Amino acid sequence: MGRLEGKVAVITGGSSGIGLATAQQFITEGAYVFIAGRRQSELDKAVKQIGKNNNVTGVQGDVSNLADLDRLYAAVKQQKGSIDILFANAGIDEFASLGAITESHFDKIFSINVKGLLFTVQKALPLFQDGGGSIILTASAGGSKGIEGYSVYHATKAAIRSFVRTWTVELKHRKIRVNAISPGPIHTSLIDTLVQSDEQAERLKTSVMGTIPLGRMGNPDEVAKAALFLASDDSSYVTGIELFVDGGVAQV
Ligand code: NAD
Repeated sequence: MGRLEGKVAVITGGSSGIGLATAQQFITEGAYVFIAGRRQSELDKAVKQIGKNNNVTGVQGDVSNLADLDRLYAAVKQQKGSIDILFANAGIDEFASLGAITESHFDKIFSINVKGLLFTVQKALPLFQDGGGSIILTASAGGSKGIEGYSVYHATKAAIRSFVRTWTVELKHRKIRVNAISPGPIHTSLIDTLVQSDEQAERLKTSVMGTIPLGRMGNPDEVAKAALFLASDDSSYVTGIELFVDGGVAQV
């Protein structure tokens, strides 16, 4: 029997990268998964790629739009009635150094990574049952580091680490565990969109790789395994933590 047999999971940013790899692992372990993402075509592709035995539904929507979140949870309620696992994972990243930060850069990143994540969680709460559940938030190893050009993005991830502490206490009476996963550099489209050329990509990889004790970038499956641990009863006595999956980059 799978470790998530009979469980219902919602994953935002589930049509690519870490979210998609996690959806795949949750399904393999027996869960029914709703994946939410902005682009219908990417969602359709993801559903086709991971769907087996009608155990995945794609719901299009933007997490920073509260009406879209209402539609997402209305679909979950109508099809399954409740949620056991929420992986609030959707996020974006963009560079801007202090001195060159624009209002639109700030608003865009905070709106998706912080406001969107907060309402993704808050609006899910009525669907969790009395027996409890697991909420996992994607933060970042960068939230604990100082890296040039990342003031705003890393501040959003530090905010997420703070949410975990408060929500762990606020949701303890409902037996809902709340934890963060903090990936280090993981090879996904998030990294690809930061660079404009192959040369830049190589330079980024070389400069980043020198700082990682394990000497390489991670892959989305390695983060998905940590999400599976936090989603399942294997982590039944774990709440309030930040689980780093970072090749050691923020640990030394
Ligand atoms: P990704 O770009 O493949 O995945 C991000 C997903 O979020 C995409 O599917 C995207 O469509 C979705 N998304 C973005 N904005 C959205 C919105 N407004 N509404 C709904 N969906 C939205 O990259 P990834 O690396 O898999 O990123 C997943 C999470 O991991 C992000 O929160 C990111 O900040 C975090 N993270 C990634 C790395 C890394 O190195 N890749 C490191 C640390 C943290």
